[in-house]
Amino acid sequence: MQRANQTIDPLRVDGTGSIAEQVFRTLRSSIVTMRLTPATALSEQDIADRLKVSRQPVREAFIKLSEIGLLRVLPQRGTFVVKISAKAVTDARFVREAVECAIARRASEGIGKTQISDLRTILAEQRKAARDPEAFFVLDEAFHRGLANAAECAYAWKVIEEAKAQMDRVRFLSLPDATPVDHLITQHQAILDAIAGGRSAAADQAMKDHLREILKSLPRLSRAFPDMFEDEDTAAQDVPAQKPARRKAAR
Ligand SMILES: [Zn+2]
Repeated sequence: MQRANQTIDPLRVDGTGSIAEQVFRTLRSSIVTMRLTPATALSEQDIADRLKVSRQPVREAFIKLSEIGLLRVLPQRGTFVVKISAKAVTDARFVREAVECAIARRASEGIGKTQISDLRTILAEQRKAARDPEAFFVLDEAFHRGLANAAECAYAWKVIEEAKAQMDRVRFLSLPDATPVDHLITQHQAILDAIAGGRSAAADQAMKDHLREILKSLPRLSRAFPDMFEDEDTAAQDVPAQKPARRKAAR
């Protein structure tokens, strides 16, 4: 069992939200970027000391992190960073595809010129950050969030943001070896071109292709980093290879 002697991000005091929310965001980002690796033991007092806050906001952040499935509190034993569950990743991916394909369709039915140009700026920044996985990761978020905002789907993004906590660690692990960043940028370009051209079916398909990338990297990563993954009998199959047998019609 690992102890939390790993580095964590400094507290991000950006003036938004309570101290507990800032602690939550800091710990979430440290977990997602693997500064705090799966199975690490965390103590409220240790985190409070390192972030120079009292224990109460840390306790609140721990509760929220366990609600989104990143921490597990085991009575008498302590609090641990949850190992990655392939099942939880594919469950979250399924929700993300349903929601973000709908966002892509909606955006292609009416998006402003300014919004297109803002998204193109993000893509240009992604190209500059192509050799820096952490910077790219932030800009990838910015692109998907920007698209949701442009389609007036800010609430949908909030829902995805909670659900995708499980996916984010795999996405981060996959950069850049399992999934080349250039490939992802090309996919972003295809999504944006289809949206800008008002081609909703193409935008939907391009988003689908992009969000299915993780299904290719997940089995490879779980083999490469067995200690980071839960022991599950799951082969990352939320997209069935073949059509399932048709169920008998209900009478
Ligand atoms: Zn993306």
